[in-house]
Amino acid sequence: MMSSTAIRQAINPQRLLETAQSLVAIPSPTRSAGQVADHLSKILTQDGFTVERPVADWPEAPAVVVRFDSGSPGKTLQFDGHLDTVHLPFIEPRFENGYLYGSGASDMKGGIAAFVEALRAIRQTGALKAGGILLTTHDHHEGPWGDRRQLYALIREGYVGDAVLLPEYLADRLPLAGRGMAIFNVEISRPGDKVHEVLRPPNTPDVLATGANLVNQIHQQHAEIKNTTHPYAGHDSYFIGQFAAGEIFNQSPTHCKIAGTRRWVTPGHTAQAESKFRQLLDNLAQASNTQIQAEFAVQGDAISIPLDDPIVTAFQQAHTTVTGAPLTPGAKPFVDDGNSFSARAGIPALTHGPNATGAHTLNEQVSLDELVRVAQVYALTATHFCNS
Ligand SMILES: [Zn+2]
Repeated sequence: MMSSTAIRQAINPQRLLETAQSLVAIPSPTRSAGQVADHLSKILTQDGFTVERPVADWPEAPAVVVRFDSGSPGKTLQFDGHLDTVHLPFIEPRFENGYLYGSGASDMKGGIAAFVEALRAIRQTGALKAGGILLTTHDHHEGPWGDRRQLYALIREGYVGDAVLLPEYLADRLPLAGRGMAIFNVEISRPGDKVHEVLRPPNTPDVLATGANLVNQIHQQHAEIKNTTHPYAGHDSYFIGQFAAGEIFNQSPTHCKIAGTRRWVTPGHTAQAESKFRQLLDNLAQASNTQIQAEFAVQGDAISIPLDDPIVTAFQQAHTTVTGAPLTPGAKPFVDDGNSFSARAGIPALTHGPNATGAHTLNEQVSLDELVRVAQVYALTATHFCNS
């Protein structure tokens, strides 16, 4: 078998950096990633790869897909990334003292350049003896501007491997679990107009008291559900961060708005979490004679990957070769596209990328050393996963 040294040496830092810089140089706020997708497609085509451009529900920026096949049957490892960036003022790429700066350097054009370089090294060394690599990149990731429709369409249309690696900026742990999350927005209302306190008709429903009651009931539910735990992900929870009602001290309001989050550790628990929440609201509306409307916007389902999953074994082997030690298993602090792969494609999804900083700010920065490390880990993980 090809030595791991040869694969690592095939990662070309200069070529990787040029790819990363050229991706950062093209602005691609969410829903406007067409131009950078065309550019990535051109790079991969010039590299000699066959590029597919499935529209996948987003004609503005067709996805960029490469299937690299070893020629022998086996497992497929997917590298997936989002080409869109958050809607902040555009920062030009700049390379200084070993660090790349600019829009998307950390989140996640640097990571995409790293897996493109991993793919080049895999082909150049002939290291893949079985299976293949599926490279997918897309738009529509960053919320609230994007709704992830393009990734959902790609999954629906079968652009799915046997496991997937996602180079988000997380390098200090191997996230084997993460909580699912929904944002709820509740609006409690009553019929009629705002009215002076002393002029209220008898039995006017009290939206503010109903809201307070809801806060209490949610806190009570939190005390119960927090007993549902996961060794890495933590526990189920409710949280309320906003409460708004009333205009002045002696006027009876017509609306009360409450917003917060519901998080859960059990994969597949989404529908049950929502129905229990809505049941609580229905009971309260009935008891208080108010109307209660609610949005329960699911951001992602919970994720959990067994410690002995083949992708975990392959990854840890690669990580140990490159850094001298396996990565400590832990929780994923955020919801990312890995949660969608887990819930919608049923495949294990490992988030691992550069130790980069400044995501979602004007100060994104990532070291070239980290991008090289990620490229090496991705290439070696692929050989361990597919060749076994
Ligand atoms: Zn990201």
